[in-house]
Amino acid sequence: MPNKAYKFRLYPTKEQEQLLAKTFGCVRFVYNKMLEDRLRIYEKFKDDKEALKKHKFPTPAKYKKDFPWLKEVDSLALANAQLNLQKAFTNFFSGRAGFPKFKSRKAKQSYTTNVVNGNIKLADGYIKLPKLKWVKFKQHREIPADHTIKSCTITKTKTGKYFISILTEYKHQPVPKDVKNVVGLDFSMNTLYVDSEGKRANYPRFYRQALEKLARAQRVLSRRRKGSNRWHKQRLKVAKLHEKIANQRKDFLHKASRRLANRYDAVVIEDLNMKGMSQALHFGKSVHDNGWGMFTTFLQYKLEEQGKKLIKIDKWFPSSKTCSCCGQVKVSLSLSERLFRCECGFVADRDINAAINIHKEGLKQLGIA
Ligand SMILES: [Zn+2]
Repeated sequence: MPNKAYKFRLYPTKEQEQLLAKTFGCVRFVYNKMLEDRLRIYEKFKDDKEALKKHKFPTPAKYKKDFPWLKEVDSLALANAQLNLQKAFTNFFSGRAGFPKFKSRKAKQSYTTNVVNGNIKLADGYIKLPKLKWVKFKQHREIPADHTIKSCTITKTKTGKYFISILTEYKHQPVPKDVKNVVGLDFSMNTLYVDSEGKRANYPRFYRQALEKLARAQRVLSRRRKGSNRWHKQRLKVAKLHEKIANQRKDFLHKASRRLANRYDAVVIEDLNMKGMSQALHFGKSVHDNGWGMFTTFLQYKLEEQGKKLIKIDKWFPSSKTCSCCGQVKVSLSLSERLFRCECGFVADRDINAAINIHKEGLKQLGIA
């Protein structure tokens, strides 16, 4: 069954804020305790995978005797900390991630709780959550009646705002659409993507201006004495700008993916591994910040809920080096060459040429040539 998350701003009372702070703290505490225990077992048995597997994961209940204050917070939140740690270990063992790290006080303030026997309810601008009881929230959109709530994640941002992300599950079997309109997208560092019709998804001007403002604010911060009043003030300013930019980007990615999902029956992209790519090309953070991963996630569910398709083609497909006119593949093409020129006489913008190739490859996979 497909999932969909709804995010709302929470407005806890002072008392609820205290309980939330306690819960964030307990979740971190239990996570670190379990990691500590697990680490000991890992050190002992790391050369014997079978023995390691036999050792059961510690559960939060184990710590409640020694630390009775753990009982004051939502036990489901603690149970999820255990699941998160297990996931972190699974990712580590499969090579997808590094060794699990201890959570610091500076880590994201957040916890997840689940729906069990109707413990979570919504009514008139309030949401009922385990231990917290009714918390005021701004529900700017309805959750459809056929959606079942599975879990809620409560987060406190660095600027002191609270949000709740409500994960729902729903039955939905969209009728597969006949594929007629197909578009190919080539990932672009600066503009998110260039499509096979030559259009670019340009980030809005206000977004680029906000990025410049952030860079300026960060420069000011770096000049302030660490820990001083002025430094704290500037740090909050930077955090607020970060939040604003993240929201603007998300909004833009939602709109861009919505436009494509409504207009086309299938969208073809390259299956890029962004993490690998940013490391390989030393782009560092900027590739992640470009939002491609988030964009393709949005695009996929927006297409699928309409019975449409996101086609991912092999990341090794030479989309940039192939001539979209005659099919000849160049031996090399440097990143600085912005124009694609082929011996056959074809000349095109490098990104558009790539997008056309991606489009063609997608049509091949769809069986429409
Ligand atoms: Zn050619």
